[in-house]
Amino acid sequence: MKGPPPHSRKNPYATDAARWAAVVGKERAADGLFWFSVATTGIYCRPSCASRPALRRNVAFHASPGAAEAAGFRPCKRCRPAAGEPSLVALRADAVTRSCRRIEAALRAGTTPPRLADLAREVGLSPHHFHRLFKSALGLTPKDYAAASRDRRLRQALSPAGTDATTTTVTEALHAAGFNAASRFYAAAPRALGMSPARFRDGGSGMRIGFAHAATPFGPFLAARVEAARGLCFASLGTSPAAIERALRAAFPRAARIAADGAFGKIVARAVSLVSLEADATPSRSLFAALPPDLQATAFQCRVGEIVRQDESGRMRKTPPVST
Ligand SMILES: [Zn+2]
Repeated sequence: MKGPPPHSRKNPYATDAARWAAVVGKERAADGLFWFSVATTGIYCRPSCASRPALRRNVAFHASPGAAEAAGFRPCKRCRPAAGEPSLVALRADAVTRSCRRIEAALRAGTTPPRLADLAREVGLSPHHFHRLFKSALGLTPKDYAAASRDRRLRQALSPAGTDATTTTVTEALHAAGFNAASRFYAAAPRALGMSPARFRDGGSGMRIGFAHAATPFGPFLAARVEAARGLCFASLGTSPAAIERALRAAFPRAARIAADGAFGKIVARAVSLVSLEADATPSRSLFAALPPDLQATAFQCRVGEIVRQDESGRMRKTPPVST
């Protein structure tokens, strides 16, 4: 590669040392700013390519895919570095996103979410491969994702502040959320709501709800539980701690909302750091980062909620809840 251009001070990859560091670190931020080739394989790649790293002495840098090809290198099949071609990560993120949208659309239409085999066929993968890809991208299986989406719809339909003003009864709400049988709904409700559907519908009247804030890589987070039963009844990311507290108040206008004890705060903080670490772990990090923000948030909320629920039920077996 020729000497750095005049505006090099603004380009963080202006030197070969910086470019090599980006290749070693598989930095996505460097994609599109330069390409690298490996003399021993005859292949060129994007900086973030997940392939096994080459030895520094075999690596050369190029300003464009065209320059690498002019120097006799072929595009890598894994990161698809040629201009205009989506990378493998982008293709995979797109497959996962399309499947999530299919699941959401089915629930919106009041129908059963598509089966794993159907979702896999639609994105051109085997069910096994698709399941693994989906789980590595979101930390959830397609079935988990469908359940989380259905629970969210149920909460919206039952919420006194719900946008869906046409659902006035619990029965209507369960159909709006895509439950085709009342028995399945009543089995899923305590887990999804943290309380009975009637209490939830009534804005949590007469209940004490304890909440705890936490900071996450995706912004402020708040989890809340029913103090007496310790059922998780709210878990949400938001633009600010105050905004999420307003959402909590809108969901449970008739409950007493109080700051939970330190033990609950610790459980929430631990769950947040566990899920953040997972989302940041290779190899799924680049895939997770390539997903739309609403999918990242849903997956994050769902995983944190699951861990908090498990911790709370473990604690409940040791210490019986206060009776009210
Ligand atoms: Zn590559």
